[in-house]
Amino acid sequence: MTHSATCYAYDPIEQQHNQIGHVENNRRTTRAMALLSERGLLDQMMQASIKPIAPEALQRIHSPEYISRIAAFAAAGGGMLDFETYMTPASYEAALMSAGAALAVTRAVVKGRARNGISIMRPPGHHALPAEAMGFCIFANAALAARFAQQEMGLARVLIIDWDVHHGNGSEAIFYDDPTVAFVSLHQSPLWPGTGAVGDIGVGPGKGFTMNIPMPPGAGDAGYLRAFDELIAPFARRFQPQLIIISSGYDAHWRDPLSQMSLSLQGYIELARRARLLAEALCDGRLVVLLEGGYDLGAVSYGVLDTALALMGRESKAEDPFGPAPSPETDVSDRIAEIKRLHRL
Ligand SMILES: [Zn+2]
Repeated sequence: MTHSATCYAYDPIEQQHNQIGHVENNRRTTRAMALLSERGLLDQMMQASIKPIAPEALQRIHSPEYISRIAAFAAAGGGMLDFETYMTPASYEAALMSAGAALAVTRAVVKGRARNGISIMRPPGHHALPAEAMGFCIFANAALAARFAQQEMGLARVLIIDWDVHHGNGSEAIFYDDPTVAFVSLHQSPLWPGTGAVGDIGVGPGKGFTMNIPMPPGAGDAGYLRAFDELIAPFARRFQPQLIIISSGYDAHWRDPLSQMSLSLQGYIELARRARLLAEALCDGRLVVLLEGGYDLGAVSYGVLDTALALMGRESKAEDPFGPAPSPETDVSDRIAEIKRLHRL
């Protein structure tokens, strides 16, 4: 396999993690996969072979008691873990496979079998805590992939960039005191889960290695791209990651039912293109994209398609059937200046 290839990971077990009427349902991924297939992209990407995450890899982040509780909950038929996070009898297996997919893409990219890659699996992971499910998330896929890259692939420094519209509280909490995994979250504020303030920058040896970029409702393509160019890129250059992991939620799109952001697909295409170029400049192209949220079926499926094209360097073929946000964008200059000062960028 050529080093220039983009890989993807998918397993149909995720379809059995489903609840009719819930926004985080299996049509998100089946639509995205259908679109990738219709456009012929599945034949042009290398498919990473995936298996469920091994218990020892899972225990790098999650407590044995929590893992047993999740397994037992599924075995007992599933139900609601909290007021919004559901499990079916197959959800434990699906969550193990979703984490396994994140590791498989990471392995392919770090070993150089693929240049970069995308996991199109669910349940998502960025809200999951070491001993608690949260926000539709069961296991912390991005954090597990970062630890896997360090402990099994020998990398020292990993950067996680989270552009899901919700704050990536789980990833932040896991690495808050850790200077070896830097974490950046772009998110709408105010919005659930309410964490991710500008002043939350890490603690102890991890101080300065967390960067929160809360955006006001209505921020859109211009604001997000300024945040990428003026905050994320210099933060990444200073950190010098050996791998970049993206927690890619498509719920900042203006059509999303859970948020009030004004990103368009064009904005997501530009974010993905910039992430690819940043990885090429800093870490030999090593870039792993993991699906997180995104609850408008059109936005999430075209978002995945366009991200895959951007990873392949074919963003000129990307598609935006929905166009720009119908309302003008909120200006974010003051917010960007504030974060720049705080992080001395
Ligand atoms: Zn989200």
